[in-house]
Amino acid sequence: MFQRLYVAVVLVLFGGLGAYAAEPRKEIHFPDLPGYRTLKCDFHIHTVFSDGLVWPTVRIDEAWRQGLDAIALTDHIEYQPHRKDVPTQHQRPYEVAIKRAKEHGILLIRGAEITRSTPPGHFNALFLSNIDPLDTEDFYTVFAEAQKQNAFVFWNHPGWKGVEKGRWGEEQTRLLEAGQLHGIEICNGEDYFAEAHQTAMEKNLTLFGDSDIHDPLPDAGPNPSDHRTLTLVFTKERTLEAIHDALVAGRTAVWAGNRLFARQEWLEAIFVASVDVEPPHHRTDKDLRLRMHNRSHCAVEMQRIGPGSPDRITLPARATTLVRFKLTPEQTLEEFPCRVLNYLQAPDQPLTTRLKIPTN
Ligand SMILES: [Zn+2]
Ligand SMILES: [Zn+2]
Repeated sequence: MFQRLYVAVVLVLFGGLGAYAAEPRKEIHFPDLPGYRTLKCDFHIHTVFSDGLVWPTVRIDEAWRQGLDAIALTDHIEYQPHRKDVPTQHQRPYEVAIKRAKEHGILLIRGAEITRSTPPGHFNALFLSNIDPLDTEDFYTVFAEAQKQNAFVFWNHPGWKGVEKGRWGEEQTRLLEAGQLHGIEICNGEDYFAEAHQTAMEKNLTLFGDSDIHDPLPDAGPNPSDHRTLTLVFTKERTLEAIHDALVAGRTAVWAGNRLFARQEWLEAIFVASVDVEPPHHRTDKDLRLRMHNRSHCAVEMQRIGPGSPDRITLPARATTLVRFKLTPEQTLEEFPCRVLNYLQAPDQPLTTRLKIPTN
């Protein structure tokens, strides 16, 4: 009798607490860069307060479990299909989620999606203090209001209605010239917009890649390329202010599927911080063998520039790879000049670099 009571008490105490006592998190690994922390962020997320199917706190739980540092809840300002059940209240997604965000150490950004027909399309405003003044008819007044609040604004999914409708237009020019447009989403969910990527380079816009999730998000699968599309932000510290500063300075990379997109200097820095080469441990007169480590969650696919063998080296995510170099007369062994085919600094333009091979 006592034993059964004891079991019941244990079940009530620990069964009830179980859901809160331990919440596992799958970390995403990208190395910090010299002088900067690498934060994993998703700046485009919906909840039931617009056309999403998820309560705001659930977005925090997902972010925790999936190893993120920061998210923005960005419900549509002009579109609430559930408004009969969830009335239009622009402030509520943030207010509902902020306590849970603090409990989990997730940095939460108050954002909103400015939603107009395409063109000119949709824009996210981040770091707003009050979304209500943006709920106004005149297109340019919305951006002026965002600017008053020192918001960071980027153009969402430019090519989602086709390349033609996703072209840079006079609205974008006017916003850019007024200092009211600062970034562009080159990846949204599964989509990559090459034209937007080109535009980002020409107009010096900060690169974004986001999930734009509406449904509940299943946890990432065992394959490292199976993850939500993210923006990596290189910040001085782990705070909202530091993220805002980094976005203004353009210190981002986009991780989508098995590819990284960023400006050359950031791709190079990620490459150097991620790939570690050991001196050769075995040598014959024909070849030598060494180990290469990839410390990041993104594979590295290198194609040799110039003659020599191997022609190609693929380093899977978070793994050590044994590589064989043939000893040929034309081969230099101090370095491996290569294109990193899945690190893109512009459309169809992979990072070109030289992997240093230490000698023993
Ligand atoms: Zn949108
Ligand atoms: Zn959206």
